[in-house]
Amino acid sequence: MASVRVRFAPSPTGFLHVGGARTAIFNWLYARRHGGTFVLRIEDTDAERQQAGSEAAILEDLRWLGLEADEGPVLQSAAIERHVGDAQALLARGHAYRCFCSAEALERARREGRDFIYPRTCRALSPEDATRRASAGEPCAVRFRVPVGTVEWDDAVHGPTAFPHDTIEDFVLLRSDGTPTYQMSVVSDDIAMAITHVIRGDDHLSNTPKQILLYRGLERTPPTFAHLPMILGEDKKRLSKRHGAVSVLEYRERGYLPEAMLNFLALLGWAPGGDREKLNRAELIAAFDLDGVGKSGAVFDLRKLDWLNGQYLNDLDAEQLATALEPRLAAAGWWRPEFDARPRPAAFTGALELLKARARTLDDFVAHGRPYLDAGNDIPYDAAAAEKHLKGQDVAEHIGALVAAFAEVEPWSAIALEAALREVASARSVSAGRLIHPTRIAVTGEGVGPSLFAVLEVLGRERTLGRLRRLVDALPGRPL
Ligand code: GLU
Repeated sequence: MASVRVRFAPSPTGFLHVGGARTAIFNWLYARRHGGTFVLRIEDTDAERQQAGSEAAILEDLRWLGLEADEGPVLQSAAIERHVGDAQALLARGHAYRCFCSAEALERARREGRDFIYPRTCRALSPEDATRRASAGEPCAVRFRVPVGTVEWDDAVHGPTAFPHDTIEDFVLLRSDGTPTYQMSVVSDDIAMAITHVIRGDDHLSNTPKQILLYRGLERTPPTFAHLPMILGEDKKRLSKRHGAVSVLEYRERGYLPEAMLNFLALLGWAPGGDREKLNRAELIAAFDLDGVGKSGAVFDLRKLDWLNGQYLNDLDAEQLATALEPRLAAAGWWRPEFDARPRPAAFTGALELLKARARTLDDFVAHGRPYLDAGNDIPYDAAAAEKHLKGQDVAEHIGALVAAFAEVEPWSAIALEAALREVASARSVSAGRLIHPTRIAVTGEGVGPSLFAVLEVLGRERTLGRLRRLVDALPGRPL
C-alpha cells in the first residue's frame, strides 16, 4: 500500500476554529500513526472571502498546537493553471460541457425553488455548437456531466455511503471568467499531492460524490474519505459563537496549554478505547485510528477541557510554570525582578506550587496570584468572606494573640505554625476555625484557598505578621 499522505486544507478566511483544529489534529495523528506525510495546503483561491493576516494566524495556532507540517504550506493559488488544465481535460474527454445559461437566469430560478439544482439545460447542446458559440466570444461556464447512476463509496467513518444521480448537480468546474471552482481545485491538488486519505468535517459530505466523479473522469483512483462528526454545543446544536469561544486563539489567550487543547480536541469524535481521557502526544499517536471515530456529533464540554487543563498544569514543575506564566504575570503587574533569579526564589516557586493545585488555566494564577506574589501587605478582602468571618468584637483580640504567638514561632514551618495556632485557640477556648478563617482572609483576602499553614510558610514571617497586624488595625474592637 502506498504510504499515507494526508492534508489539512484551511481557507484563510479568519482564525483557526476549534473545528478546523480538530480536523488538522486527526490528519496529523493519522499521518504520525502510520509513518505518513502531513501536508498543509492553504486554499487561498476565493479572493472575496479571504482575510488579511488569516494565513499567518492559522499557521501560528498550528505551531502552538505542535502540528508541524511535513510539506507546505502550499498555496492553492499557485496551481490555478493546473486546475484549469484538468477542467479542460474533462471537457475534451466529454465529462464536462459548456454552459451558456446566464448568471441572472440561474439566480432567478434559484430564488423560485428551495432546493434548486441546475436543470442540466446546456447538457443537450452538441459539442460543435458549444465550441462555436464559445469561439464567437459568448461567455460560458464549464460544468461536469454527472453520469446516470449512483455514486457510492465506503466512508472510513460512515461506512457505505451513496448519492443518487438526481441529488448531484451538474456542478461548475470553471466559472465564466475562467477561474476554477473549489471542487475542481481541490481534486486537482489532491491528485497532484498524491493524497491517500481525505479526512475532513461532515460539512463536506455532499462534496464527496462530486469529487469522486472528478477522480473517475480524470482516470484516477479516489482516496479514502473519512468525514468527522460535527462539533456541538451543550444544547446539541452545531457549535457556534453563541456557545462561547470558538477560535483556538481565544483558548490560548485564556491560558489553556497546547497539550491540553490537543488532547481535548482529539477526543471530539474519537475515543481511544477503555475510559482513557488524558493522553499525551505520544499516547494519542499510538492509539489513534479512524475506526475509533464516531458517527454522531461530539459535544464540546468546557468542563472537561478545564479538568484536562488542570491536569496538565499540575504536571508542570515550578520552572516550567514560571516560564509559561511570566508574560501573564508581567502584564498584570505581579512579576517582580527577583523572580528572574536562578534558581527561582523559594517563596515564588512555593507560591506557584500552591496555586497550581487549584488552577484550571494560566489565568487562574493571575486571578488568585496577587496575595502570594505581592511583597506588600495591602491585600483587598473578599467582601462576602469578610462579612462571614470578620464579624464579632473578639476577632481582633484573637488575631492579636495569634500575632504574638507567630512572632515567636521557630522554625517558620507549616507544622510549627499549625501547632502555635491550635495552642492559641485552646488557650482562648475557641475553635481553631475561629482563627483560621480570619487569618486566611488577612493573608490572601479570600475565604477559600490552599492549606492555610502551607500558605503561611510560603509567605514567610514578615508578610504574615504584617498582614495579620493590618487586619487587626482594620477591625472594630481592636486592642489598644
Ligand atoms: N478549504 C476547505 C475548508 O476550509 C477544506 C477543503 C477540504 O478539506 O476538502 O473548508
